[in-house]
Amino acid sequence: MSTVEDSDGANTASGEKDAESSKMHKVHKMRAKRDHGGDIDPVYKKLSAINGEINRMSSKELRDKLAELKLDVRGSKDILQKRLKMHYKQRKLMKAKVKPPGNSTYDYLIIIDFEATCQENNLNYNHEIIEFPAVLVDCHTRETVDEFHEFCKPIINPRLTEFCCGLTGITQDVVDKADEFPAVLERMESWMSSHYLGVDHTFAVVTDGPWDMSRFLQMQCNSSKIHFPHWGKKWINIRKAYSSYYSCKRMNLEEMLINLGLKFQGTQHCGLHDSRNIARIAIQLLNDGCDLVKNEFLHVAPPSPGTKSLGCLSNISSGDTSDHQNRTKEEIVKKLEDMKLESKNFVEENQDLLEYHRLQST
Ligand code: AMP
Ligand code: MG
Repeated sequence: MSTVEDSDGANTASGEKDAESSKMHKVHKMRAKRDHGGDIDPVYKKLSAINGEINRMSSKELRDKLAELKLDVRGSKDILQKRLKMHYKQRKLMKAKVKPPGNSTYDYLIIIDFEATCQENNLNYNHEIIEFPAVLVDCHTRETVDEFHEFCKPIINPRLTEFCCGLTGITQDVVDKADEFPAVLERMESWMSSHYLGVDHTFAVVTDGPWDMSRFLQMQCNSSKIHFPHWGKKWINIRKAYSSYYSCKRMNLEEMLINLGLKFQGTQHCGLHDSRNIARIAIQLLNDGCDLVKNEFLHVAPPSPGTKSLGCLSNISSGDTSDHQNRTKEEIVKKLEDMKLESKNFVEENQDLLEYHRLQST
């Protein structure tokens, strides 16, 4: 049984340091130096020892400890470890009067999961958005506070394929009665204004992967000949945030839920249900102390009449945008693949980016 104790005279770990805890210690030291002008608060040393001990705990020990602390005991070992480490981090930093982590950068998150026209073979398919859901999460109360939901009438392919109806559950009748995308977007933006988003409150858009903004919204704005909304140019890719926070492999929506010990609620590929489930993951990340920040952005070329301009997706973290702007899609894919050989973490870090450029090349 572990000796991690929730007190200052804690029986934390013994003097031994495994590789991970010493790596963590270095990271803490660097952060502490950065945050405190060179002076390292001893609390970071203590935290490093606690982390080392948590790394050595079995799943059962982790669950027992979390239960004792009245914390959520669901999820895989990675999740349990992170939750327990964050708990101690918050407590110890608070006690040491060092600014604790876990304060959200934004007031609100808007979770968006579009459904679009499609066919079984999507090569060169000009997707149009047919379902536009948005779930509003208050980052301070960590609750869903409102939802926006409308369907849109497609123009280029007004008849939904049997495949599309089967996948999304959306019927021809529903889209026939709906408004076209620009009118729906306008109402969605009025809904945002009704919550003073971007005026009194900060917010970020959250999606499951890069495609909602970089593919569906961009294609739709090009075909509707409207400007790409400024709020969609930078966003939080939850898959990326999740794998980076819990130090696990990149997962799809259902896998992320299962890994958290949760089940998908509703029907998959229903835009509203997908959005609600992404919101559940975002809330869990916030509850576990993750500060969700925008991690992807898109360069959007200004729309010119008759021209469909495709933007260039970038990692916010890697940030080298000028480089991407001057390359063709093929060059980018080639460069990304070359980089893959150089970095063993490449696939994890850039999977969505690579996949997106591959999609664009097709
Ligand atoms: P999702 O958010 O996973 O429900 O997918 C969003 C959109 O991507 C769908 O509305 C489809 O247009 C497209 N899509 C998803 N899965 C497939 C698939 N297996 N084949 C073709 N299109 C798909
Ligand atoms: Mg969906």
